[in-house]
This record gives sequence, C-alpha cells and structure tokens, in this order.
Amino acid sequence: MKITEHLEAAKEKTLFSFEILPPLKGYNINSIYENIDPLMEFDPPFIDVTYHREEYVYSEKENGLLEKKIVRKRPGTVGICAAIQSKYGVDAVPHILCGGFSKEDTENFLIDLDFLGIKNVMALRGDAVKSETYFKPEKNGNCFAKDLVYQIYDLNSGKYLDEVIEKGHNTDFCVGVAGYPEKHMEAPSIDKDIQRLKEKIEAGAEYVVTQMFFENNRYFEFIEKCRESGIDVPIIPGLKPIATKKQLSVIPHRFHVDMPDCLIREVEKCKDNAAVRQVGIEWCIQQSKELIAGGVPVLHYYSMGKSTNIQKIATAVF
Ligand SMILES: Cc1cc2nc3c(=O)[nH]c(=O)nc-3n(C[C@H](O)[C@H](O)[C@H](O)COP(=O)(O)OP(=O)(O)OC[C@H]3O[C@@H](n4cnc5c(N)ncnc54)[C@H](O)[C@@H]3O)c2cc1C
Repeated sequence: MKITEHLEAAKEKTLFSFEILPPLKGYNINSIYENIDPLMEFDPPFIDVTYHREEYVYSEKENGLLEKKIVRKRPGTVGICAAIQSKYGVDAVPHILCGGFSKEDTENFLIDLDFLGIKNVMALRGDAVKSETYFKPEKNGNCFAKDLVYQIYDLNSGKYLDEVIEKGHNTDFCVGVAGYPEKHMEAPSIDKDIQRLKEKIEAGAEYVVTQMFFENNRYFEFIEKCRESGIDVPIIPGLKPIATKKQLSVIPHRFHVDMPDCLIREVEKCKDNAAVRQVGIEWCIQQSKELIAGGVPVLHYYSMGKSTNIQKIATAVF
C-alpha cells in the first residue's frame, strides 16, 4: 500500500514507523532483522531504509602520493527493502538521492523498485560528499529533490528518458520528501526553505517526513507555517532518542538542530551512557505523547540500527 493509503486507513489513530540504515559492508542482513523483530509488535505500516552514497577515501601510497578510492560503506538499500517486504509483509520505503545518480541511474533504480512491488520512495537531494563543501549533482543528474520528484512522476505517467519509448508502463510510486522544522542548513531563512518545500509538493510529493527535533514547539510552529503557505499534505514528525553524551555535539553539528538546555543539563548530569540512554528514552516518550495529543499522523523514529530504546519508547507510547 501507499503511505497515503496507510494514513487514510488509520483515520485519527497515530501510527508507529521507523527508519533503519543498511549494515556496514561485510555484515549480513541478520543484524537488520534483529533490530526489526522487536519492533514488529507495534505494527509499523512502513519501514524506511536510508541510502548511502559513495565516499572518497584517500590513502598514502609508498611514493608519498595520495590515492583516491571510491567506497560505498553501506550498500544494500534495495535488497533490504525487498527482504523486508517479503519477510514481514510490511511496506518498505527506500530513500533515493540526487547525489551520485545520473537521471538514467535514477530511472533504472526506479524500474528495479517497481519490479519488486515497492510502492513508496523518499526523494532526497543528499548531502555533499565528505571531502567537498557544497553539493554537486552528478553529470546529467538531478540538482534538487524537487527535480527528482518530477522525474518520478514522469515515470508514473509512463514518460521515460529514452524518447524511443513512446508510451511506457506507468509506475505508481507515492513520494515522500524531507522537511526541516529548524530549516535546512543551506537555506537563507525558514520561510524560503518552506517555499522550497512547497515546490516539492507542487512537483507531486504526497507527504513530508521531518528532520529530528527535540522541542515539539519547533514542529508545531513549522506545521503552522507550512499550512499558511498552502502545504496541505501530511507532515510526519521524525524523532531520535539521545543515546550518548557525544551526541550533544555530534547531532547539532551533523543535523543542524538545537537541543533544549534542560535536556542538555540532564544528559550532562549522567555518569555513563546507560544513564544517558535512559534520559533520551524518557525525553522521547514525553515528546511522543505530546505529539500524539497534537494529532500527528505517524511517529517516525530514527533507530540508527539500534532498536532497544525505540522498543522501550513504543511500549510506553503505543
Ligand atoms: C527524513 C530525512 C531522511 C533522510 N534520508 C537520507 C538518506 O537516506 N541518505 C542521505 O544521504 N541523506 C538523507 N537525508 C539528508 C538529506 O539528504 C540532506 O538533508 C540534504 O542536504 C538535503 O536534502 P533535501 O532532499 O531536503 O534537499 P532539497 O529539498 O533539494 O533542498 C536542499 C537545499 O536546497 C534548497 N533549495 C531547494 N530548491 C532550490 C532551488 N531551486 N534553488 C536554490 N535552492 C534550493 C533548499 O532550501 C535546501 O536548503 C535525510 C533527511 C531527512 C530529513
């Protein structure tokens, strides 16, 4: 089923879903199942699987020169999605990026998804590769998520890149896009970022999943602004429970989100990471309950490959 159909079927009830990332290359899929199994009792209608593009790794050769290698540390997004759909009978949502994909690569990726019976995709631009400051699209690739959404909806109407195909098979993807309650780091203002989000909806995207946030007001204010600007699709909040002290600096740096002072104080008081995990779980339970009371359609958890804390939160909330 499409995400939009799941939401319609749920009516007023808030659904539970989560995101996983493929294991590092060299591990098998059992680590994924071990994380999904304990969460199945909460009936997730869909599970997102992130996409990880290639990275450049430089190593010094004997002659002192640097050798550039291109590596993908976490391949397997499509395979994991197919495995999830077949093992659990739950819709898997692969993330697809502009970065690292030419439009032709994108089309071929989407054809694979269509043949596998995957109905939903999350369309993202992706970040700059680690060694570069700014995002650079692939030659003949999509520049922004909006362009990727247009390409997916072209395929949904049977329009392929190859003009020889006059009337191709219509795919039927439901497309989600990212939203940023605290604005995307490159956007000059929140209003401009929301205008860009609206362009993704006008291109055809049918729902939004937000970046993590730690203060619900950020989400509620974002919703208000989105609605004022005419965005009327479901906006699913993304939540991440804090699990280590180090995340106090890593998360703001990597995801460009603020943390409230009272959460920082609670984490700083902790003697070890087991205590931090407990603070993170309690904070996330509070956030979740307030968001449910606020009528959100789904609570979408960033599991980062660790389900124990998500299981504890879901037990308290659902
Ligand atoms: C829910 C979620 C899931 C994610 N999953 C992944 C994943 O699996 N893999 C991964 O690598 N990354 C993932 N990301 C990270 C994401 O790829 C980055 O945040 C990326 O920097 C932006 O992607 P986007 O799709 O929001 O880009 P876009 O919507 O294209 O926006 C990027 C920036 O460009 C601006 N912009 C948009 N259109 C224009 C225009 N026409 N002219 C000028 N500026 C414009 C926007 O305001 C924004 O600042 C995820 C993020 C979220 C929130």
